[in-house]
Amino acid sequence: MAMSEAQRGKMVERCHMCKGNSLTQVLDLSHQPHSDHFPTKEQLNEHEERYPLRLVACLDCGLLQIDYLVNPKILYQTDYLYQSAATTKTGGGHFKEMAHDICSVHNIPKNALAVDIGSNVGALLHSFKEEGLRVLGVDPADVAKKAIENGIPTILDFFSTNVAVDIVKEHGKAHVITGTNVFAHLHDIDDAVLGMKTLLADDGVIAVEAPYVIDLIKEFQYDTIYHSHVGYLSVKPMAAYFERLGLELFGLKKSDYFGGSMRYYVGHKGKHEVSPDIARYIEEEKTFGIYSLSRLKKFAEDVERHKRDMLSLLLQLKREGKKIAGISAPAKGNTLLNYCSIDKTFLDFITEKNPLKVGRFTPGTFIPIYDDATLLKEQPDYALLLAWNFATEIMKNLEEFKKRGGKFIIPIPKPKIV
Ligand SMILES: [Zn+2]
Repeated sequence: MAMSEAQRGKMVERCHMCKGNSLTQVLDLSHQPHSDHFPTKEQLNEHEERYPLRLVACLDCGLLQIDYLVNPKILYQTDYLYQSAATTKTGGGHFKEMAHDICSVHNIPKNALAVDIGSNVGALLHSFKEEGLRVLGVDPADVAKKAIENGIPTILDFFSTNVAVDIVKEHGKAHVITGTNVFAHLHDIDDAVLGMKTLLADDGVIAVEAPYVIDLIKEFQYDTIYHSHVGYLSVKPMAAYFERLGLELFGLKKSDYFGGSMRYYVGHKGKHEVSPDIARYIEEEKTFGIYSLSRLKKFAEDVERHKRDMLSLLLQLKREGKKIAGISAPAKGNTLLNYCSIDKTFLDFITEKNPLKVGRFTPGTFIPIYDDATLLKEQPDYALLLAWNFATEIMKNLEEFKKRGGKFIIPIPKPKIV
């Protein structure tokens, strides 16, 4: 049965962060289904909801964001299958480094409390536990029950000021508050960040990590745009945002994770020395042109060209009678597949490590998802790497596929065969 407009989500007219009302459209990725909702065979008989997916820029603070918010209950509480770090080695190593970096650089006392917002299966908290900290996760998604089974205490809820107050009452204030790849997901961001402020110990550290929007623009990573990502972060709007809420952005750390991520270190005002990196990155962002509409217009043209290039490569291979499959079914793969209209006409199947996705279908394009072993069993001529940010690791694991004559297609930044 179709949902009412209010149940589906809402159009926004004000900036997610500064609340200004000068949003202007940059890129239209058409209407798309929820990229983390992989239908089962039975669900293929049902109506699939689609929502507008458009990137807009705030002319006041510079934040790039989407202007249609899907109801968070749909995004996170129905059958959400994303498991961070559970499926790739790179993810696990990254969290270990992050926990160690935060504890050593910021002199976090042993036995202090670390709270991870959007803690998923508890991978990052597991690393904080190894650093000798007390840990607590907050995550409304079903998959967080796995963290509890693995010994990571987790509150199964959306993080909010109310939840923060409860945590302080029960566990005291936190010296470390983290949000990896979740800050951009927050729907009521003011309430969540004010909650972090309430929860944060006097000299504590908030570490927010998210894909860096400059890399997104530079490398045509438009597939990282989907409804779970509300904001596409850069330093200028982040610095202004924390200042408005009485906090202070005091440090940055750039990493290659997720195709280019930025870690933002935030504390109570005046409690940490402010790094010159912040002014430097803001200058670089301005020089790059991220806050200019002509640069963003060029990005939109690049994305349209990418779609044509992607399709002409696949068409050419199909005309030659080649068999093509996909490897791994991340959420972002679905933005690419849906925007480029790549369905079963091009890809026979997709293989995936996450057992929760095996046996299901890709949203919108309905390509069947099989387990990893299928790739060698079927040995297609080409394999499209949808999790291109883990390309090196995936290709190393699949040396046998290559030895038998298989070739990889890496879609981003430009479709290329390796
Ligand atoms: Zn703004």
